[in-house]
Amino acid sequence: MRTRAAGKSKAVTWKSRAVVRAIEPGSSVDCAACGERVKFQAKVKAQQVICNVYIDGKWDRVEHFHLECYRKAGEPHGHAA
Ligand SMILES: [Zn+2]
Repeated sequence: MRTRAAGKSKAVTWKSRAVVRAIEPGSSVDCAACGERVKFQAKVKAQQVICNVYIDGKWDRVEHFHLECYRKAGEPHGHAA
């Protein structure tokens, strides 16, 4: 299910945030928690968490997690929506 991006926010707060996405075929990123490749698997609908990490109000990096790893880590960049 898709959620609409909120278009009403007035002030943009540059905070780290996390979204859940399906893992795409050909994905070649490593999980920031367990260090293993976030792999597309045809048989399961695997999901990843993509986090835009902001430090001191500036974008710093993107981190990828397995959905499960992200939850186990206590959702370090906020709730993954
Ligand atoms: Zn992982």
